[in-house]
Amino acid sequence: MTSETPDTTPTPTPAPAVQPFGLRPAPSASAPRDPRPGISAVTTDELKAWLVAQGQPAYRARQVADAAWGHKATGFDDVRTLPGDLRAALDEAFRFDTMTETEVRVTDGGLTEKAIHRLSDGLVIESVLMHYPARDDARERHTLCISSQAGCAVGCPFCATGELGMERDLETAEIVDQVRHAARRLAVDGKHLTNIVFMGMGEPLLNLDRVLESIGILNDPTRFGLGARHITVSTSGVVPGIERLTALGPQFGLAISLHAARNPLRDVLVPLNRRWPVEEVVAAARAHTQATGRRVTYEATMIAGINDTDADADAMADLLRGELAHVNLIPMNQVAHTPWTGTPIPQVVRFAARLGAAGVTATIRQNRGTEIGAACGQLAAEAAGRPAPIVVQRRRERLEAQSAAALRGERSEEPAPAGVGEKAP
Ligand code: SAH
Ligand code: SF4
Repeated sequence: MTSETPDTTPTPTPAPAVQPFGLRPAPSASAPRDPRPGISAVTTDELKAWLVAQGQPAYRARQVADAAWGHKATGFDDVRTLPGDLRAALDEAFRFDTMTETEVRVTDGGLTEKAIHRLSDGLVIESVLMHYPARDDARERHTLCISSQAGCAVGCPFCATGELGMERDLETAEIVDQVRHAARRLAVDGKHLTNIVFMGMGEPLLNLDRVLESIGILNDPTRFGLGARHITVSTSGVVPGIERLTALGPQFGLAISLHAARNPLRDVLVPLNRRWPVEEVVAAARAHTQATGRRVTYEATMIAGINDTDADADAMADLLRGELAHVNLIPMNQVAHTPWTGTPIPQVVRFAARLGAAGVTATIRQNRGTEIGAACGQLAAEAAGRPAPIVVQRRRERLEAQSAAALRGERSEEPAPAGVGEKAP
């Protein structure tokens, strides 16, 4: 989760068998999943059919949807426009909310709210609401960063979610209900969400069916009604997923987590690079831009002495020169158990200037809510408990050795993480 630095120009913006960087298993589900569908992902036609089967008029579907997407009710029992027996029947058949518990932590003087949601099986996911006050030329914005999976199979070593490994895909309603929660909190102050980014826990393009279904619901004027151009999906580079989005035509924004332009280093920082190397990712992004006319955003988490050198900037410029692209540079947030630190701002500025001189535009961003863990997954990682010091030490040594080899230009011989390549999005 990131925000612009004040001094820069803002721009729009089953557990794997091999977990190369995983420190510990993801916090496993502690209960069976609630089989009742979440009401937010039930279609109007499905709901009407269910109501009719209950001997109820179909028009009640509208009342139920209004209650689900309104901001007052927190359960079917609050929907007093419905008869009592129907409220009870709805509660038996559906879940009003797929989150059994939500805790909100506020930081950045109220500008960042991190929500920790517990799911019916006990897994924990996170969403982050970021408030951007109005500025001279820009209206106020309220951006929600949401999760698409509990854990993540990709295993980027600097990412708290990557540390956890993969637990499971989120259901469509579990994705959408993160949005309902934030919208309800905003409504208390008469405000509404302006942007949604899939930059929380998980790799959205490895849960693409549900991500697309959730975006359809969020777009639907009879449900949430947020325009697709206000939604951005971020991927670590799942090429078949990008191609599927391209085939769908211009929709929402696409962000690619690049981190490094050189394959040996990207193999370490984004382990699925061993499956889809960086030039294939950029080619897929280029085809996306050509087909949709939409600019792709590239994200780079800056790690001191690892991917922030002049040589890295030049390699990135060579890779992206001529593309309709924009780069966001974000100093690494110190959350995962790595031997690394975030790049100091002056070096980020130098990197951005080098890209700019080569004709590639870049913006420097800062992490939001660092003291409560802006990069999603940190609080879930805390809930998983501390890994043993010896495990952390071995991981650090391994990352040091791997990044040193990468910096010498040697490619990793490890395979792509399990759970990444074999699943066709
Ligand atoms: N899996 C997708 C989307 C979720 S991660 C992806 O990787 O794009 C969203 C963003 O958070 C990514 O760009 C990721 O690089 C960034 N991120 C993860 N851990 C971070 C950290 N410790 N510091 C800064 N950014 C981080
Ligand atoms: Fe997964 Fe994205 Fe974290 Fe990498 S950065 S481990 S792809 S959530």
